[in-house]
Amino acid sequence: MNSNYWNDQNSPVMPVSAPDFMPQEQLRELQLHRLKSLVKYTYDRVELFRNRCVERGVRPEHIKNLEDIAILPTFTKSDLRDTYPFGLFATPMSEIVRFHASSGTTGKPIVVAYTKDDLRLWSECVQRALAACGLGAGDIIQNAYGYGLFTGGLGLHQGATDLGLTVVPVSGGNSERQIMLMRDFGATAVSCTPSYFLHLIDAAKAQGVDMRDLPLRVGVFGAEPWTDEMRRHIEEEAGIEAFDIYGLTEICGPGVGIECKEHHGLHIFEDHFYPEILDPETLEPLPDGEEGELVFTTLTKQAMPMIRYRTRDLSVIGPDPCECGRRIRRIRRIHARTDDMLIIRGVNIFPSQIEAGLLSVDGALPHYAIIVTRENNLDKLEVQVEIPREKFSDKISEIEKLRAQIAESIHRIINIAATVTLAEPNSLPRSEGKARRVTDLRGRQ
Ligand code: ADP
Ligand code: ZN
Repeated sequence: MNSNYWNDQNSPVMPVSAPDFMPQEQLRELQLHRLKSLVKYTYDRVELFRNRCVERGVRPEHIKNLEDIAILPTFTKSDLRDTYPFGLFATPMSEIVRFHASSGTTGKPIVVAYTKDDLRLWSECVQRALAACGLGAGDIIQNAYGYGLFTGGLGLHQGATDLGLTVVPVSGGNSERQIMLMRDFGATAVSCTPSYFLHLIDAAKAQGVDMRDLPLRVGVFGAEPWTDEMRRHIEEEAGIEAFDIYGLTEICGPGVGIECKEHHGLHIFEDHFYPEILDPETLEPLPDGEEGELVFTTLTKQAMPMIRYRTRDLSVIGPDPCECGRRIRRIRRIHARTDDMLIIRGVNIFPSQIEAGLLSVDGALPHYAIIVTRENNLDKLEVQVEIPREKFSDKISEIEKLRAQIAESIHRIINIAATVTLAEPNSLPRSEGKARRVTDLRGRQ
């Protein structure tokens, strides 16, 4: 007997990814329809949005086509902080079934809320994301994102469950146990931050487990920037295909965008999250293909709709179309956000550039720390990089050669000199969630 005996066998089955393939004209129509309702809905229910519209002389009926979105005000993280905790909610508490909050490493966390429909929508997006990674019923996913207020754990969990995967809700931490479970349960997929997965690779090695011998075949990694160099390292070491998943608490959590098998940009589920790229200085919309700040409008969220929310992430929309056949647009992978840019001796530098530089040298491990100091009014950049233990037994001249190669490779990319220090394996701090690789001591000296 078919195990799905409760399903009506005559009803047409709509694949979860169907909206990804919707003709663009139809998609734009749907977006416009949703945008109009959203603006009216939010205007009626969220005071801050209404006030900002009134200041600009904007009324909901002024939205006549998609480009008119540019007349609406933008919002930032400080708006969420200023209205903490519930000031941007658009529904009464009786309709809200879940809160999440961002880490809040600087001051108060930001709080977001979901109705039942919001949770369904979030799950739909995570399902579409996992389906794009080639996952489905029969796969076992070890979900090592943190469970709790952080959106990663529960967000991935629900989508994976609804898609029919077998979920191992292990959360982050206790790496030894993670490896034991991964092996014993035969996980075919794993989800966590890329930096935590690096840590798991090391933990496996320490237990004499070669991940390449396990059934693991897919990694779903996100919540922090990671480079293609890092991807190559991960895929080689673990024998898997690594996919980049993108999301942010303010918009829903993971599942705003996902790489397809082309691994050339992330598809945005734009029937729910309308993307724009703005010039971060002037806030003017930029055409597809130009780099700027990524801004989202949640077209279907109820409890806490976001209109033109500035992510601070830098990206580019396009190119279009994608070989995989999806018609929803792609963004370039996020390798930088406006607020993690370091200005060193007047040069703008992103940590991902340093990562790309050091990882293109054979012998450098993907564990590194960036320390910025100021001596005699001059910025100094130090990069600490782990190298394999056996390298330390090489001749001093060989070690020095490796150090110089890494320094040179970083210099080629960022155009300023960094002092490179080689470190023993496992000597730099590890994280169970998002990695913290930069220590900027300039303000404190
Ligand atoms: P916080 O803003 O406190 O870090 P979030 O968990 O909401 O809390 O983090 C969202 C941010 O994480 C995004 O705006 C982005 O900068 C980063 N991020 C999430 N996924 C990715 C990804 N796949 N690649 C690069 N950065 C990512
Ligand atoms: Zn694609």
